[in-house]
Amino acid sequence: ITITNLSRVFRTQDLETTALSNINLSVEEGEFVAIMGPSGCGKSTLLSILGMLDSPSSGSFEFAGQDIASFSENKLAELRKASIGFVFQSFNLIDELTVYENVELPLQYLNISKAERKKRVETILKRVAIDHRADHLPQQLSGGQQQRVAVARALVINPRLILADEPTGNLDSKNGDEVMTMLRELNREGTTVIMVTHSEKEANYADRLVRLLDGQIMIDKANNASLKTE
Ligand code: ADP
Ligand code: ADP
Repeated sequence: ITITNLSRVFRTQDLETTALSNINLSVEEGEFVAIMGPSGCGKSTLLSILGMLDSPSSGSFEFAGQDIASFSENKLAELRKASIGFVFQSFNLIDELTVYENVELPLQYLNISKAERKKRVETILKRVAIDHRADHLPQQLSGGQQQRVAVARALVINPRLILADEPTGNLDSKNGDEVMTMLRELNREGTTVIMVTHSEKEANYADRLVRLLDGQIMIDKANNASLKTE
């Protein structure tokens, strides 16, 4: 990921808000980056742009060597669905679908065959230890279990990038640690992880710390306190 002189300005009627102001940020494949900063500093805006859900007002964003600005909406959606797994604070599972169906959905968007979907969904549900709940609805699960399903849904496409927005914000500390350990393991296997967090403890799972303030990057440094799992 290479972000160069990127700004995002929101204009509503006569109001103008600069959410991101001329930022530069490069993330190499395989990094685990924590993004921190006070409310309103631009974290969500940055994550939306990284996730190709929003576009910069100026400046450039390159993903896997490709300039995102040159992509049509369709092509962007395609790239997003094939390459990026999202994990949100509020899980964002579909209430009407079972655990299995929630995790299968991203593979349906990619037109993967039913037999292959079954294989991949079952493997990933085992991996996050929720296979015994495959036929349950999200609301029949605890918060920790729901977030494990959300992680499975993010992972099932073998994404190049995982974007996590306060992934443990709604979890108690035991479940939060479990989810963080899972993200850490995935990162160790090579998946790039970019995570927004308010928690210093959670940020310690990352190898690099980026601090935003008023839409600008104030600090970008290696995290020497990083919790090594091996
Ligand atoms: P954070 O995630 O760090 O709390 P945000 O990225 O949500 O910050 O917001 C950064 C700034 O941009 C804030 O001042 C916010 O009010 C503004 N902002 C975010 N989204 C919009 C929007 N859709 N319209 C107008 N202003 C917005
Ligand atoms: P936690 O200790 O993570 O908060 P809970 O007490 O919420 O867990 O849930 C304990 C077990 O009960 C979990 O395995 C969960 O799947 C199951 N469970 C919780 N709520 C429901 C429900 N409404 N229907 C069916 N099973 C449920």
